[in-house]
Amino acid sequence: MKGSCNCKSVSFSCGQEIRAIVNCHCNLCRKMNGASFSTYVVVAENELVLESSSLTSFKVSEHATKHFCHLCGTPIYNTNPKLPGLAILHLGAIDSDIEIQPAMNTYCESQLGWVNQIKDLHSFEKGLA
Ligand SMILES: [Zn+2]
Ligand SMILES: [Zn+2]
Repeated sequence: MKGSCNCKSVSFSCGQEIRAIVNCHCNLCRKMNGASFSTYVVVAENELVLESSSLTSFKVSEHATKHFCHLCGTPIYNTNPKLPGLAILHLGAIDSDIEIQPAMNTYCESQLGWVNQIKDLHSFEKGLA
């Protein structure tokens, strides 16, 4: 599995063994990533091989440190001291096709009400502009 940031200053690879794919609906992930919810691909941290001149880290809470490209802002992965040995990759940073799907939603207490109705919205193959 390979991935990168948007400006390609950060690239990474890791083994194929995915421990979990999780959608997180918590307010912290929403704030941190600017998205309605965040999808994470959990792998072993010791299998993550990073090539980077621009990776930086920010401790966003007691339980989360976000590792991201300081040039383009792309989030790459999180670490959590409660989940030692795991790297929690941001799905969007992964370039390889991922065939397995999320297995669970977490922090549904703060899930936005419309998320479950998203398939009912008017939908277009491309943007409107
Ligand atoms: Zn970048
Ligand atoms: Zn979260």
